[in-house]
Amino acid sequence: MPAVSDVLDLSSSIDRVNPGELYRSAIEEVAESIAPVIAENRQYQKSRVFDRLLIPDRVIRFRVEWVNDAGGVEVNFGWRIEHTNVLGPYKGGLRFHPSVTEDTLHFLAYEQCFKNALTGQPIGGGKGGSNFDPKGKSDNEVMRFCQAFMRELYRHIGPSVDVPAGDIGVGGREIGFLYGQYMKITKQRDGVLTGKPMGLGGLLGRTEATGYGTVTFAEAMLKHADDSIEGKRVAISGAGNVALYAAELAMEKGAKVVSLSDSGGSVIFDKGMSGSQLEEMIDFKEVQRGRLKDWSGNGASFHAGERPWGLVDADVALPCATQHEVDTKDAKHMVDRGVKVVAEGANMPCTHSARGVFHDAGVLFGPGKAANAGGVATSCFEMHQNAAHDAWTKQRSLEKLHGVMIDIHEQCIANAPMVNGVVDYGVGADRGGFVKLADAIVAMGV
Ligand code: NDP
Repeated sequence: MPAVSDVLDLSSSIDRVNPGELYRSAIEEVAESIAPVIAENRQYQKSRVFDRLLIPDRVIRFRVEWVNDAGGVEVNFGWRIEHTNVLGPYKGGLRFHPSVTEDTLHFLAYEQCFKNALTGQPIGGGKGGSNFDPKGKSDNEVMRFCQAFMRELYRHIGPSVDVPAGDIGVGGREIGFLYGQYMKITKQRDGVLTGKPMGLGGLLGRTEATGYGTVTFAEAMLKHADDSIEGKRVAISGAGNVALYAAELAMEKGAKVVSLSDSGGSVIFDKGMSGSQLEEMIDFKEVQRGRLKDWSGNGASFHAGERPWGLVDADVALPCATQHEVDTKDAKHMVDRGVKVVAEGANMPCTHSARGVFHDAGVLFGPGKAANAGGVATSCFEMHQNAAHDAWTKQRSLEKLHGVMIDIHEQCIANAPMVNGVVDYGVGADRGGFVKLADAIVAMGV
């Protein structure tokens, strides 16, 4: 197999882009996976597809000014990174979190391009957001912020141009406020955002899609290894949209969910979470916007400031909180606690060295760009529904979601080498997505 240095001048490619730490690690990881594909294809080399994919089509950066409940003026950054529309309109979520920087969004937009390509849907890649922190803000403050954000964003988006969605800190409430403002400014009700509340053209099943898709992918990995998810102990991090619905489907499939977490700590359910506890938890987190430290449930214990991985035995781990939340130490904890399968519900929650621990231990590893692609695939169904002025049933969207996840699993298998006797899904996903993007870039000319 050719080394990266045989086919790419990676350091000058990276110097040209000057990425931050997160984007750099995403670029390096992809480069390692796809070097053999580039080595075999002279057209990819001649068209410089690797370098062309590193620089986004454009980066939109703007000021968001709004008034808080006390009458004070607040100022935040807003961004939209339109990475590539070679496969379809720019598509990717908006993240509202104080940690958001341009580097975070570059990395997320780049990953999104590969993920969206894997879904087989006609969507390009993008990402956006703000360093605004919705935590602790009143509904009115969140609404005023969303309206101010859209006052700038509306001129850059459109149903065939750029279709944003939710991500960390942006759920149905925020999408409703954003879309409401877009409709007022433009007079259009064209479905330009996905993840919309039902009354505004949302799709049944979109709320569940990312978490359900991650579990479907983990189940496919287990099946491919002649195993099943039934009866497995599943440790989950996060307690947001992805984590809660991953928990729901895992339990429906007969698995035991043994943990959830938020940035304050972890809740451990040593005997597995019950159906009624999950129902209460969804209301507690999604409606009451509570903190896990204030949640009390029978047979559950709270561990302040701790991640779940060292606290509980598990067969399957689903990191569903945020990027780089699983480091080497966490990965070793998982292996020591019995984990055999990891599927990333979040975007790149496992560091490069954590992935190395999984490889060495023969743990099956499903990367986020494959395992959490169900959310964006289902967002694309929402675009179909809106464009056709249709109303899909939940059954239709969930069946189609299942089909897409199985297809992504098959694409990974078809492109993945075996390492230490296990399928290298990380490489399979990178190669599967890259070939689609690269072929379209070649076809488009310069
Ligand atoms: P939510 O905002 O609904 O939930 C995020 C959860 O992760 C919260 O419980 C949050 O805790 C926790 N969290 C966030 N940052 C940290 C941190 N630094 N340390 C510990 N816990 C943290 O987001 P989503 O569930 O929508 O997204 C989760 C991940 O999945 C993200 O990586 C996102 O990019 C990815 N993703 C989401 C998709 C979607 O459809 N929603 C689609 C594909 C990927 P707290 O409330 O305390 O901050």
